[in-house]
Amino acid sequence: VYQQLFMNQQQLLDVALRIRPLSEAEHEDAATVVAHRLDEQMAVLMDPMEDPDDILRANRSREKTYMFDVTFDYLANQEEVYRATTKGLIEGLISGYNATVFAYGPTGCGKTYTMLGTDKEPGIYVRTLNDLFKAIEETSDDMQYSVTMSYLEIYNEMIRDLLNPSSGFLDLREDCKGGIQVAGITEVSTINAREIMELLVRGNKQRTQEPTAANQTSSRSHAVLQVGVRQQSRSRDVLQEVRFARLFMIDLAGSERAAQTQNRGQRLKEGAHINRSLLALGNCINALSDKNCNKYVNYRDSKLTRLLKDSLGGNSRTVMIAHISPASLAFEESRNTLTYADRAK
Ligand code: ADP
Ligand code: MG
Repeated sequence: VYQQLFMNQQQLLDVALRIRPLSEAEHEDAATVVAHRLDEQMAVLMDPMEDPDDILRANRSREKTYMFDVTFDYLANQEEVYRATTKGLIEGLISGYNATVFAYGPTGCGKTYTMLGTDKEPGIYVRTLNDLFKAIEETSDDMQYSVTMSYLEIYNEMIRDLLNPSSGFLDLREDCKGGIQVAGITEVSTINAREIMELLVRGNKQRTQEPTAANQTSSRSHAVLQVGVRQQSRSRDVLQEVRFARLFMIDLAGSERAAQTQNRGQRLKEGAHINRSLLALGNCINALSDKNCNKYVNYRDSKLTRLLKDSLGGNSRTVMIAHISPASLAFEESRNTLTYADRAK
């Protein structure tokens, strides 16, 4: 059902919604479900709190519907989500077009599950790399491709190498062509899926995760898997670089608000940084999707948007996968998430 929705279209920005299943804890609390998938594109959110009389008087509905390029619920598996959101980027990537995939949403709503997944149910990272290697194998012999991978986190506007965490904080540099590079980052060129998964799982454990009142292991950092595809032609016995394209796959920091997690001090500062970079990202994406108007895109507002400068806009394709819980307790966060994702379009 979901397949092909994205892949046949040449949209530069696609926004998807994934409503995760009720968790065991939510089941045990006999949580009510307030977020539903209506069809391939529509989702509905019901306000569990509002006084029905108030709503009647104001002559409006308790329900609000939202539209996305594709909407998934608990019935969608990892392969379906990957196919409908990300698989279609690979063709562009080997033709030299940059692309970015974001997982957005509050802590606990399934971002890491979608991107990294588990050994049994791998997510977008590994599925994309597998298909990328396959696609490269199938291309003609006079082109030679090399693929490199880096995995980093941005935490409080500082960059750390998740494949070599002891290397301290890294800087963003502009290379001679004006491209943004992370100076000194580890680059690997493994093509074995199992090894890649191991590297990423280990790297993911290095992410800065601090207990907050809202959640015991809230990710306070953006995790960025950067994949570089270099294409060289082998004609006349010389290798010549023809194209270089980059794919970013990003597990964003939890979007919950600092105020709602009763944070103080360090936690509050993190919240401010996270909000700032998510806002900068939203603004950039928002400006890009506004085709009738060349709004000034302020990439310099955060490390994240600086890193992505060449990968947002132009001919680059962007996919945003918003994540929510279906439970009534998560209503406020779900509404915030749906509003953000809606605005991104
Ligand atoms: P986040 O990264 O947004 O904080 P996680 O990906 O860690 O959230 O998900 C929280 C929990 O819910 C994890 O135990 C994860 O395995 C589970 N989960 C999330 N999405 C799904 C899904 N679509 N199907 C099954 N389990 C899921
Ligand atoms: Mg996570």
